[in-house]
This record gives sequence, C-alpha cells and structure tokens, in this order.
Amino acid sequence: MHTAEELEAKLAVAEARLEALTAQARQNDEKLRCSQRRELQLLQAPDLDSLLQEMTDGLRDSFELQSVSVVLRDPGHDIRHLLLVSDTDRYPNLIFVDTLLGLAPQYIALRRPWLGPFAACDHGMIVAPPGDLASIAMIPLRCRDELIGSINLGSADVNRYTANHASDFLARLGAIASFCIENAVNRARLRRSGFTDVLTGWHNRRYLQARMKEELARACREGSRLVCMMLDVDHFKRVNDTFGHAAGDSVLRELAQRIDAEVRASDVAARFGGEEFVILLPATTSSDGRHLAERIRNAVAAAPFGLPEGGDVTVTVSIGIAEFAPGAGGTDLKSLGEALVARADVALYEAKAAGRDRVVVEAA
Ligand code: GH3
Ligand code: MG
Ligand code: MG
Repeated sequence: MHTAEELEAKLAVAEARLEALTAQARQNDEKLRCSQRRELQLLQAPDLDSLLQEMTDGLRDSFELQSVSVVLRDPGHDIRHLLLVSDTDRYPNLIFVDTLLGLAPQYIALRRPWLGPFAACDHGMIVAPPGDLASIAMIPLRCRDELIGSINLGSADVNRYTANHASDFLARLGAIASFCIENAVNRARLRRSGFTDVLTGWHNRRYLQARMKEELARACREGSRLVCMMLDVDHFKRVNDTFGHAAGDSVLRELAQRIDAEVRASDVAARFGGEEFVILLPATTSSDGRHLAERIRNAVAAAPFGLPEGGDVTVTVSIGIAEFAPGAGGTDLKSLGEALVARADVALYEAKAAGRDRVVVEAA
C-alpha cells in the first residue's frame, strides 16, 4: 500500500517527466518546422546562384552559426562557368576544388554527416575563414552515389556538434541539397544552351539581356560606369551577294574570333542579331571604350578574311558607343538596359552616316 504522500510524490515525478517530454516534443516539433523551412528554401531556389546563396548564407542565418561553407568538386570548372554571375567573389563561402583528396581527412569516408571538434589542421581549408570555430558538422553532398563535396556548419560552441548528437536532420538536409544542386546544374546547362549562338559560339541576345541587368545592378551598387558598344558589319549584304551565304557565315565566325582576341575576360560579348554584336565593358569609361573599339575596328580592317572556297574579302565595321553612369535616373533595369543599347545604336547609325569603318561615341 502507498501512502497518500508517496502517491503524490510519484505523481509529481510523473508530471515533471511529462512536462519535460512535452517540452522536448515541442522543441522537436519546432526543430522539424525549422528544418522543413530550410529544405523548402533550397527546393524553391529559382536558379543555381540563389541555391548556392541559400546553402551558404541562408543556412548560416537560419542555424544561427558563425560560419557555413560549401565545398564543391568542380574539376572541369563546369559549375563555375554555369554561374550567371561570373565573379566568384560574390560567394566567399563557396569553395571550388579540383579534388576533395587532401582537403580534409573526413572526405575519405564521408557517407553520413560527420560531427565533432573543429581542428584548424584538418578543417582549415573547408571553411572560409576559420575564425574561432570550436565544432563542425560536415554534411556530405552526393551525386549518383559519388561524393561531390560537403556543407560545413561551423560553430563557436564546442558542444554544438559532437559525435553523440543525432544527425538525421542533417543527413536529410544533405540529401535534399545534393538533389537540388544536381537539378540546378542541369537547369543551368539547359539555359546555357538557350543562351548560346550556334554560328559563332558566342552568347546570344537573350544572354545579353540577362547579363545587362546584372551589370547595370552592379554599376548602380558600386557607383561604376558601364560602356555599351554596338558593332555592325559594313555592307555585309555585298559579301553574301558576291560570295554566297556560306562565305558570309565564315566571315562572321572569324569576325567573332578577332573581336574575342581584343576584349577582356570580364567584358560581356554577345551576337545581338545577324551581323550585329554588342559588347558590355564593366567599370569602364567611354574614352577607354573608344580605345578598345578602335583596336577592334583595326583588327577587322587590317587583314582580309579568308573564304572557305578560296580567295578572301576585306571587311570593315562601324561601332557606336554609349555609357551608363549610375544616378542618371530610372531604376527599372530592363528599361535602363534597353535605353543603353538604343543609345549605342544611335551612335552606330551616326558612324554609318559619316562613312562607315569608324567609331562614334555618343555626344555627352
Ligand atoms: P550597312 O550595315 O553597312 O548599312 O549595310 P549591310 O549590308 O550590312 O546592311 P543590312 O544590315 O541591311 O544587312 C545585313 C545583312 O546581313 C543582311 C543579312 O542577309 C545578312 N545576315 C544576317 N545574318 C546572317 C548570317 O547569319 N549569315 C550570313 N551569311 N548573313 C547574314
Ligand atoms: Mg545590320
Ligand atoms: Mg551591316
């Protein structure tokens, strides 16, 4: 028989236990909701850029961590080329490597998330910068059963990630992130094929429109100028009429190569239409743009173009230049871009009217 006191005490213990379990369940519930939110954030990322942003800064904010980095194996620079924004400076927490070997010992057998103490000698190359991290969770990213990298959650709290912690949530997050990367890379590949001009291998007008917005946004953000150059082949119809369409095609191909040899890697060059090309020069003034345009004009006019059936033809180009300076009014990037191209086209028209084979910078 139990006394009333004994029963009361037992009841109190049971109640306390129930309370603790309820609190834990509530916490789990909250954890589950948080984790579902994170998974959705990744699954809903519209493109590769946003996905990688979500996987680094997004997860860091959501987990309230000191550092989150993503290591990706990218031996052919394929993923880097697919990023629409070409400056990888925008992703300081994204680490591209040719091979995972020698980067961190855990990569040798990383099938499940690895949780444990942070060691600068082991993990120094997979977080950027290491700062004062004390524990780390390395979540494997796998594509078709092959390890392609990891998400690395770094905490200043030594007890945040230990071998005793359950890692099911993290394993699930890793599986979803891996799926999202594969998917986004495939989508970006598909989009790139729609961004490429078949004849010259250059980017096309659609790509230019997308990059124009990026470059205008950057110019506004950084207070820098953006030069737009529009180039059109002079009397190109004559080339077609005299030598045939195939000869015209080969001239366009070589023309693209000659222009390519003059522009910088950071410039955005696209085939705008038939025999019209547009080149965007970030962080450049129109007087620097004029120098480059003169170099291009010379590179075209200086030597004749060989033709596939033999013989050659001398070709000239006219170039119009307009400059975008931030703060000049308007915020809609699409209209700003269209206006900039239209202004370069007006300058091009003036170059044609003035006798062709020349560069015209729009009047200030
Ligand atoms: P200008 O620009 O100096 O005023 O004279 P143009 O003869 O170049 O003028 P226009 O822009 O009217 O003609 C462009 C020609 O380019 C007409 C078109 O048949 C030709 N063209 C456009 N795309 C291609 C192409 O992909 N291959 C070839 N071979 N010709 C093309
Ligand atoms: Mg034309
Ligand atoms: Mg022309």
